[in-house]
This record gives sequence, C-alpha cells and structure tokens, in this order.
Amino acid sequence: MEERRKVILKTRLDKIVCAVIHSLMVGVFLFELLVILPKIYEDDYNVRKVPHIIAGLFILFNAVASLWKFILTDPGTGSVILPSMLKPGWRFCWKCEANYPPRSFHCFICEQCVLVRDHHCVIGSNCVGYRTRRYFLLMAFYMWFALLYANLLNMDFVWELFHSFGSRTLLTMFMPLLAWIFGIAEGETLATAFFTSFCIITFLYGTAILVFHMRNTVKGRTTHEEAKGVGSKYNLGLEENLKSTFGVNWKFAWICPLIPSPMPGDGFCFVEKELLEQSGKSL
Ligand SMILES: [Zn+2]
Ligand SMILES: [Zn+2]
Repeated sequence: MEERRKVILKTRLDKIVCAVIHSLMVGVFLFELLVILPKIYEDDYNVRKVPHIIAGLFILFNAVASLWKFILTDPGTGSVILPSMLKPGWRFCWKCEANYPPRSFHCFICEQCVLVRDHHCVIGSNCVGYRTRRYFLLMAFYMWFALLYANLLNMDFVWELFHSFGSRTLLTMFMPLLAWIFGIAEGETLATAFFTSFCIITFLYGTAILVFHMRNTVKGRTTHEEAKGVGSKYNLGLEENLKSTFGVNWKFAWICPLIPSPMPGDGFCFVEKELLEQSGKSL
C-alpha cells in the first residue's frame, strides 16, 4: 500500500532543485508555444497550435504529476511492523535499529531503510525503490518525451533558419558563447541557440538515464544488484518484471501516474528465479 512521506524536500538545495526542474519544464513548454511554433506556422499559428497545446499539456501534466507522486510516496516500510527476530536473508540495520528484508538498504539522505533500494534521486530528493520506481521511470520518460518533442520542433526551426546543418550552425548551437564572440550569431538567434542546445544536451543525457533504468527494469534488477553481479537472481521474465515495477495494471500504468496500479507484492518477500525454475522442473 502506498503511504505518504512525512517530510519532503528537507534541505534548501532540495527545494531549489525542485523549483528549477519545474521552471525548466514550464519554460520548455512556453518557449515552444510562444517562440518556436509561431516561426514554424506563421499565418496558420492560431489554428495549428491547438494540437501542440493539447499534446504539450498532456506531457507536462504527466511529467509534473509523476514528479510529485515520486516526491510524496514513502519508499520505506511505512506502518508495517517489522519482525523482532532476524529471518533468513534479512539483515539488521544499526541506524534504524530494526530487521529489514532482502533487497532493502539504508539511505543516509532519506534517513530510513528503503525497500528494493535502487538509488537516491536528487530530482525530488527521494529514493527509487519498490514503491517509487514506477513514478521515477514515468517522470524520466515524460521529461525525455517532452525533450524529444521540443527537439523535433526546434530542428524544424533551426533547419529553416540556417538552411543546412553546417559548422556555423553546430557552433552556434553547441557553443553559443564562441559563436557570439566570432560574430556568427547574436540577439534572438543566440537566445534560441542557447535553448536548442540545452534541449539537445538534456535529451541525450535523459536518453542514457532512461535506457539504463529501463534495461534494469525489464531484467528485474536494481542498479545495486547489477553492480554486485546478482542481477539475474530476481529476473522472472519480462511480464513479471514489468509488473513488479509498474504494478498489476502495468499495461496502462505508463499512460498516467494517477492510474491505479497496485504492486503485486509487499516489497518484503520475493520469488527467486532459481527457486521458480526448480519448482517448474519438479512439477
Ligand atoms: Zn536503516
Ligand atoms: Zn534516499
């Protein structure tokens, strides 16, 4: 069951990062709507902007909703009473002074043990774990998708502006300061170059992050388990792995973070691949 975190965005840095992320998301949306689209459509802008506004608002809403679901969801054990006796495979956390199940680890920033801990994410300042991984991945996906959309629109604009992707265009986009010093670009062109290069760089970075975490998701492992070489221990096949991240309603859960999709288990007990194979052979 999902439980709310008691304390969110504890430090000033957490609040600043959160405010910057929101500003960038809204900034990308407004820049595309008010600067890029009028350049692309010119006289037809009022009519043709409508589908882009609908698509943009859908992506923006999902990105912001995923971020806030990620921020608000408790990645720990919540109100579950932990056993006083150490069970096989469990371990004692000296910080929390309690027994914790396999795959859970203590986070010194969240100051709690996190179920199926993957890593601590600075965006939202929460741990990616059993109860929060879905929202982290949706947040990463919708931010990536927004940047893909923005880059496609920007490419059209850059193409129209420069007519060809030559060395001057690349210099203006990736090193706008140098382009300004050499007098290649100035004013609005320079501002747009800053913006378009930001979208390209963050898109490439976002692609790497998304591919890395989706790869782990489809293989049913955490970053920690992959690093330790025990990545295949809980790999139960694509469908079960997707279920253990996106919930029982995994086929639709990616459409919106607000779609209910309860987790198949409790985050305490896990079926191991080896045991599943052994029971399959003995049947
Ligand atoms: Zn702990
Ligand atoms: Zn954490």
